[in-house]
Amino acid sequence: MTKNVDAIVVGGGIHGCSTALHLCLAGMKPVLIEKDYAGRHASGVNAGGVRQLARHIPEIPLSIRSMGIWEKIAELVDDDCSFESHGQVLVAENEDELSTCRARVAELNALGFTHEELIDAAELRRLVPAVADTCPGGVVSRRDGAANPAQATTAFRRKAEQLGAIVREGVAASNIRHSDGLWRVDAGTESYAAPVLVNAAGAWAGRIAAALGEPVPVETVAPMLMITSRVPHFIDPVVILRGRKLSFKQFKNGTVLIGGGHLATPYQDRNETVLDWKSLAVSARTVFELFPVMRSATIMRAWAGIEAKMKDDLPVFGPSARHKGLYHQFGFSLHGFQLGPGAGAVMAELIVNGGTQTRIGDLGIDRFHPSLL
Ligand SMILES: Cc1cc2nc3c(=O)[nH]c(=O)nc-3n(C[C@H](O)[C@H](O)[C@H](O)COP(=O)(O)OP(=O)(O)OC[C@H]3O[C@@H](n4cnc5c(N)ncnc54)[C@H](O)[C@@H]3O)c2cc1C
Repeated sequence: MTKNVDAIVVGGGIHGCSTALHLCLAGMKPVLIEKDYAGRHASGVNAGGVRQLARHIPEIPLSIRSMGIWEKIAELVDDDCSFESHGQVLVAENEDELSTCRARVAELNALGFTHEELIDAAELRRLVPAVADTCPGGVVSRRDGAANPAQATTAFRRKAEQLGAIVREGVAASNIRHSDGLWRVDAGTESYAAPVLVNAAGAWAGRIAAALGEPVPVETVAPMLMITSRVPHFIDPVVILRGRKLSFKQFKNGTVLIGGGHLATPYQDRNETVLDWKSLAVSARTVFELFPVMRSATIMRAWAGIEAKMKDDLPVFGPSARHKGLYHQFGFSLHGFQLGPGAGAVMAELIVNGGTQTRIGDLGIDRFHPSLL
């Protein structure tokens, strides 16, 4: 039996859930199909960083749009998602790195973006008192913060369902095809048909795009995170380093989440990852070097999540370049959690109104010429 709906959203990460929710708010009835459960992959296991800081320029407008939603997240999803705004700070460890920071802030200001602010050593130490004395400054984005990723993704999923979305978990969308002017997808024993299909399948989305004749240069990666034992409170903002692969934040209970981009090996068809303990040790050592207070901490747990990374580090976002009614929303390249709320809102505008006021022009799938693949 085929069920007719207004839109089929494939993938129950923060992006698929947010788009399903915003489609409901616009009066549509979507089905959200998730092969595991909402938040099982990158969206539920990430570091929860809600940052506009240090973004690639083409995605800044989407990030700013998202930030406005994060700041009122409970009004949208009836759940605060544990979002807290203590700012995010990028630390320069030497004068060369500080000059790079200075140039970046000047470039953003020239483009009219003011969310990143250059800070000197004194302001750095006020924001991050425990930082090593040798660090000469950095950049702060004061409205940034962090949220609980599983709580947030679940809240979007729950609200979408409350507003009328059909949510199918534990079944993969398969046999995706277009016939008689409709997208048709099988999900277990059911089939769905709709004029709109949203490909929000995370690390699996590249395969869907390729099967529909739009291959893109996407790689599956597995960034790792680890969490320490409790240490006395020493930091409020999320901290990232300019020159090394490191980011971290301290929770209220004293534990510290350490990440920054070191990678595990993904086995995406088995939903598994194998951690690289040697690179985790590098991250741990860097934190211990910079923050003496961390030297007594031990690593309690580590994990990784499966994520789609584009060759140019930018998401594929917007309508298909080949097919009417097909939209892509994937390839968030290790920084898509913050973008989820805004991306869902913008995607719903594209689908319902055929356009958006938010500048997303450089994120389209048409940026990939066959010679770039
Ligand atoms: C360890 C780690 C730390 C990170 N830290 C941050 C951070 O601090 N801040 C930040 O902004 N970003 C961060 N990210 C990136 C962020 O988590 C991702 O960019 C974002 O969650 C991607 O969301 P998504 O909805 O596109 O993908 P996903 O969350 O992967 O969701 C896609 C879903 O599609 C489903 N799916 C795939 N194929 C099918 C199919 N055929 N049928 C049905 N369902 C299907 C999958 O099961 C999956 O659940 C981090 C990522 C990781 C892994």
